[in-house]
Amino acid sequence: MKKHLKSMTQQEIGAVLKELGQPAFRAKQLFAWLHKGVRSYGEMTNLPLSLRQVLEQEYPICPPEVVRKQESQKDGTIKYLWRLSDGNCVETVLMRYHYGNTVCISTEVGCAMGCAFCASTLGGLVRRLEPYEMLDQVLFTQVDSGLPVSHIVLMGIGEPLDNYDNVLRFLELVNSPEGMNISMRHISLSTCGLVPKIDALAEKKLQLTLSVSLHAPSDATRSRIMPVNKAYPVEQLLAACRRYYEKTSRRISFEYAMIDGVNDSEADAKLLLKQLKGLSAHVNLIPLNHVEESPLKPSTKAAVARFQKLLEDGGVSATVRRTLGGDIDASCGQLRRKYTKNQA
Ligand code: SAH
Repeated sequence: MKKHLKSMTQQEIGAVLKELGQPAFRAKQLFAWLHKGVRSYGEMTNLPLSLRQVLEQEYPICPPEVVRKQESQKDGTIKYLWRLSDGNCVETVLMRYHYGNTVCISTEVGCAMGCAFCASTLGGLVRRLEPYEMLDQVLFTQVDSGLPVSHIVLMGIGEPLDNYDNVLRFLELVNSPEGMNISMRHISLSTCGLVPKIDALAEKKLQLTLSVSLHAPSDATRSRIMPVNKAYPVEQLLAACRRYYEKTSRRISFEYAMIDGVNDSEADAKLLLKQLKGLSAHVNLIPLNHVEESPLKPSTKAAVARFQKLLEDGGVSATVRRTLGGDIDASCGQLRRKYTKNQA
């Protein structure tokens, strides 16, 4: 299968155009059009018609189609379910924060990681997304909503570091000055903790924010809710985080979904403090979003507040994440899950 033009750098597009006998300056024009989120070559009015016809034949654009769009009445969060050109569906969420509109994208169709609390992994991994399919989520969310996107989080369906090469290419593309030009500092990448890939990413010294889904301070608890912990236990994971921080000087943010009676005790908070010692860390406490198929329940408000205070008192900054889009199944994987279940 031919590589998709929108997964290519401007230089690679230049090579394709050269083959087609086109002058070098066309690469910049074509790249810019593609990164505006046009739906057809017909819109690229400054390109010769003959070239547009060849491209249409050789490199069809095939944009994703909106299957469902849900808008929160409470906070303006918009959730999209897209159908990709092969019929698979992924979700994207647009959140309106005071600092800018943030798009949460999926990196895979389904997920292989098997976290006990997560809806995205219930049907396993179907396939990894191509760079252009990640980019399209940002582009077409912006086009459809009419809202300019300034921030991106890789926290939708899938494990970004399980799709390492494609994710890196996506980051390069979305950061490109000729394209969306989204600063790395406005991008967060969340991982369940694939240690070798965290080390590989550290070498790239990107200015993005790395979020690590820790969710428990001990191997006993973490292995119970996150199978990945059996391959990369807490100590190894935190050692990789320390190396990451040394290499990049970027503060790591730890995600901690608060689950009633599982990871929300005083002892958990104290052990977490001990584990994070010496790491310039920020902890994001997320009240668990209840998933229909799972027996796990969110911690009480009081337990979350107590946990936060224990961390703060111990010198670790901790915030409780405001939940957005609670009325529209906006936490990852829920909409796709419902849709695929109803189709079956
Ligand atoms: N695979 C990556 C990114 C996708 S999930 C990762 O594991 O980090 C984004 C975040 O949502 C992760 O921290 C994940 O653990 C969390 N999450 C998944 N299901 C959740 C739920 N039901 N309630 C709260 N957080 C959840």
